[in-house]
Amino acid sequence: MVSIQNQVVLITGASSGIGAACAQAFAPLGVKLLLAARRLSRLQTLATQLEAEFGVHTHTFQLDVRDRTQVESQLQALPPEWSAIDILVNNAGLSRGLDKLYEGSIQDWEEMIDTNIKGLLYVTRTIVPGMVQRQQGHVINIGSIAGHQTYPKGNVYCGSKAAVRAISEGLKQDLLGTPVRVSAVDPGLVETEFSDVRFHGDTERAKAVYADTVPLTPEDIADVVVFCATRPPHVNISELLVLPTAQS
Ligand code: NDP
Repeated sequence: MVSIQNQVVLITGASSGIGAACAQAFAPLGVKLLLAARRLSRLQTLATQLEAEFGVHTHTFQLDVRDRTQVESQLQALPPEWSAIDILVNNAGLSRGLDKLYEGSIQDWEEMIDTNIKGLLYVTRTIVPGMVQRQQGHVINIGSIAGHQTYPKGNVYCGSKAAVRAISEGLKQDLLGTPVRVSAVDPGLVETEFSDVRFHGDTERAKAVYADTVPLTPEDIADVVVFCATRPPHVNISELLVLPTAQS
């Protein structure tokens, strides 16, 4: 494990689930944590806790990754000590609905595509040029098992995560010849607010998702993200599929 002390780590979607667990996992490593999401009060609560527990430096800001203008302006407006991002965890994402394609909500599709694909692209496009210029950086994209296999009624979400997988691979190829690394971490079932969001707050339906299995915890994925980020510079973990033992 190499030291990443003093490196600036940006986590998108840090207000809950895997993103918040990544913040917890990076905090003891002496990094500087940039936490972004739409729910600013959640980020502030998390930052206060991490500062008290680990003495870590944090900076929180509201960000809707779907809004290209906001992504560019918020990232360009970061205070100088936060502007050189070393590690980008592209985690913000969501699923909406679980419907047959010919019955699905077009609004749900747009939200998934705008967040999971376009949002990830906007953030990446804004940050990676600085990494190339400084010849230092690591992009860690949170994909999904859904990018490897399509399950019934998963259509558009699976398509969005297949796109994330292709984008991770494409970015890695584009960065060959530079020291900037790209890792894809693709989880299976993780118990977070993901299912609540997917079913628009129908908590009974959300709970039922985890009824027949022992899901991963957000911390399981955060461990893997930190593992990727702490390999020596010549080692790139390009893709890891992380599943609950009971998931095929
Ligand atoms: P959560 O719902 O707990 O977290 C999702 C995070 O994404 C929240 O912090 C949310 O913050 C943020 N987010 C959503 N939309 C936006 C937006 N437009 N702009 C900025 N931030 C946004 O779910 P998970 O932790 O499970 O999900 C994290 C990632 O993991 C996602 O990419 C998801 O697809 C992926 N994943 C999850 C799996 C699971 O089973 N849970 C399995 C495989 C992959 P806020 O609402 O405050 O903006």
